[in-house]
Amino acid sequence: MQNIQTKLLINGQFVNGEGAAISVLNPAIGAEIIQVNEASVAQIESAVAAAATAFKAYKKITPRDRASMLLKLADAIETNATEFSELESANCGKPYLAVLNDEIPAVADVFRFFAGAVRNMTGSLAGEYLAGHTSMIRRDPLGVVASIAPWNYPLMMAAWKLGPALAAGNTVVLKPSEMTPLTTLKLGELIADIFPAGVVNILNGRGESVGAPMIAQPQVQMISITGDISTGQKIMEVAAKTVKRTHLELGGKAPVIVFDDADLAAVVDGVRTFGFYNAGQDCTAACRIYAGNKIYEKLVAELSSAVSSIKVGEQKENGVEMGPLISARQRERVAGFVDRASAQKHIEVTTGGKIRAGKGFFYEPTIIAGAKHSDEIVCKEVFGPVVSITRFDDEEQVVGWANESEYGLASSVWTSDVGRAMRVSAELQYGCTWVNTHFMLVSEMPHGGMKKSGYGKDMSMYAIEDYSAVRHVMIKL
Ligand code: NAD
Repeated sequence: MQNIQTKLLINGQFVNGEGAAISVLNPAIGAEIIQVNEASVAQIESAVAAAATAFKAYKKITPRDRASMLLKLADAIETNATEFSELESANCGKPYLAVLNDEIPAVADVFRFFAGAVRNMTGSLAGEYLAGHTSMIRRDPLGVVASIAPWNYPLMMAAWKLGPALAAGNTVVLKPSEMTPLTTLKLGELIADIFPAGVVNILNGRGESVGAPMIAQPQVQMISITGDISTGQKIMEVAAKTVKRTHLELGGKAPVIVFDDADLAAVVDGVRTFGFYNAGQDCTAACRIYAGNKIYEKLVAELSSAVSSIKVGEQKENGVEMGPLISARQRERVAGFVDRASAQKHIEVTTGGKIRAGKGFFYEPTIIAGAKHSDEIVCKEVFGPVVSITRFDDEEQVVGWANESEYGLASSVWTSDVGRAMRVSAELQYGCTWVNTHFMLVSEMPHGGMKKSGYGKDMSMYAIEDYSAVRHVMIKL
């Protein structure tokens, strides 16, 4: 592999982390790729101070010129597409071609979208709402944003966080997951060539030792985190003490509601793809199927057969569709869920259900049939290649079950009845509902949750709104 960039980016300089060395693994073989040092507390303070200083000038850069930098970054990412795909697939275990063909174009598109979006902001009209006074609305950046990303799509999550924050005129201190920092650290090289020093600072490190002191810095005005609900709760506690703005994206357990009149082949194909993409380590994964009584048996049989054909393997194996889980710990967690589920009499594991023997953190693509709505496997986020199927009787029951969840990120409805699709979509308490598909994202539309899945919106104009403040200026005439 190429020379791996392991230095932190602080105030435009590349520096070695002064904290503990963290081992970064290739999950497909369970072996170390390299060690990357964490940031020390002094380095965290320097990064935040650099971002605060850089903000004074960066916020004055026009939308046109910020857009130009974002467009350059998008181009540079595409120019380096193969290097990014090598690193991301090695570090996450994902199929190389999935990163190259699916993720990299989407990452570049996010930066391009925000480059265009920031030049097209709209809002209320200026006017005389009080006689003798003119009021106008401004939308201004907030200052230093502390952004914290998870390990499932490291480069994509960096793009979702940097794109709207930088477009809106903020400066950023970004911390990838300590398990998957390599593409974000490499992104730092491209950023350093394009953006003024201090506008983006990149730190490596664990949540407790780097994330926590980073968000607690007084100059941080906003905290953006994609991660677990429990992590979001800890961040809210810190934010509560200093009244910092928060942007939370916290997991999901997507219901996939399959009515009897659904196109069975489309459902099978959709769940085979979108339930197991990224080995199911996706907060929108199509993992919680509710199937109508009449379609249930066929769906279980055909989906189990389709899923048993998913090609599992290392990053560059011919035709590989699914890689390993991110870590041994994550695999134990997934295995624990499946073992507890399969110990119940009403449950049948129709395919998979086992750790794959040999090296790497692989777990077989798994279908769990006969699950009850109240079962742990149906209620809790597994974050692995495991899909449950639960039988339902009617529309009212299934909508109630779907909404009973503590999560509220993504959902889908599969039916050939347009009226029912519209009715059920309107009832679902999820940030996104797809009809007759699942998982499709576009930069123009928001991605984000309701309930314990959080409330921050990624992508779309709504993200720029999240990363900026509405201000009223009133002039006495
Ligand atoms: P995690 O919560 O363990 O870690 C997320 C990030 O938070 C990491 O960078 C971690 O170092 C940091 N962190 C942990 N504790 C912290 C603390 N006390 N202070 C500051 N930072 C801290 O989550 P993960 O295991 O990396 O990712 C998986 C989770 O992320 C899943 O629950 C998944 O559903 C969720 N996720 C959500 C979305 C979404 O869009 N809603 C997208 C991807 C992943």
